[in-house]
Amino acid sequence: MNDQTAGDTRVAIVTGAAGTLGTAMCERFARDGVRLVVADVALDPAAVLARRLDPSGDNALAVAVDVTDYASVEAMVAAALSWAGRIDVLVNNAGISEGHVPTWEMPLEAWQRTIDVDLTGVFYGCRAVLPAMLGRGWGRIVNISSIAGKEGKNNPAAYAAAKAGVIGLTKAVAFEVAARGILVNAITPGSIWTAAWARLGEEQQAEVKSRHPVGRFGQAHEVAALVAWLSSDECSFSTGAVFDISGGRAGH
Ligand code: NAD
Repeated sequence: MNDQTAGDTRVAIVTGAAGTLGTAMCERFARDGVRLVVADVALDPAAVLARRLDPSGDNALAVAVDVTDYASVEAMVAAALSWAGRIDVLVNNAGISEGHVPTWEMPLEAWQRTIDVDLTGVFYGCRAVLPAMLGRGWGRIVNISSIAGKEGKNNPAAYAAAKAGVIGLTKAVAFEVAARGILVNAITPGSIWTAAWARLGEEQQAEVKSRHPVGRFGQAHEVAALVAWLSSDECSFSTGAVFDISGGRAGH
């Protein structure tokens, strides 16, 4: 079954929507006429963003979600369904990076929290949203991994492990639903300019830039453009795939 018709207004959930990449994704979706569930553990900035994108409130709904809590993720999906009656797209974007120390010094809590948010949170999102997508026979899930999940360097082991886990999870889920109209893909951004990078000194910024053959940081709107394509009908023959957006950094 595919009940999509031309002119149909799609509905997307973006988690971690109030962050740098999430905001750019929401801006892009709004520009493309997609109705949005702006979901974040930080409700206030999510609500400000939703109001900015659509002051009428008809096309953007802010929802508080903690992706480490399955009941909270289920509540987000229920809120989306009761608001819009459908969910076409889920972008599992919420993420953290903690424990920037060698493995033998990493606080156990930093390991656990990173796995909880960056990996289990993505599983929870997929699990909670898939019944609604399967029921309609159309869906797009985009999981935000990281180049760290392929490189395993320059990042905490917990972050690299969680992001590599997202790649495996994406492939497994994609395989399960491939014949049922639902495409599940991951993206692996390199260093995308955020306030966190801006806090580094110039020398460190130059070192980070030099990891990317194009010689610069990526921009959030560039990531949003890839996510928009992966969320669309134009993406029709890719699933379980890993899309690099890393300025040439990905060697494999
Ligand atoms: P960010 O810190 O600006 O945004 C992350 C958002 O996730 C925040 O709004 C935060 O409130 C939210 N969040 C954190 N924990 C949450 C939870 N438990 N439940 C719900 N929301 C939660 O970070 P960003 O740079 O925009 O990163 C977005 C995604 O892109 C992350 O998954 C990150 O790992 C990934 N990524 C970023 C870069 C980069 O260079 N910026 C590179 C590769 C991958």
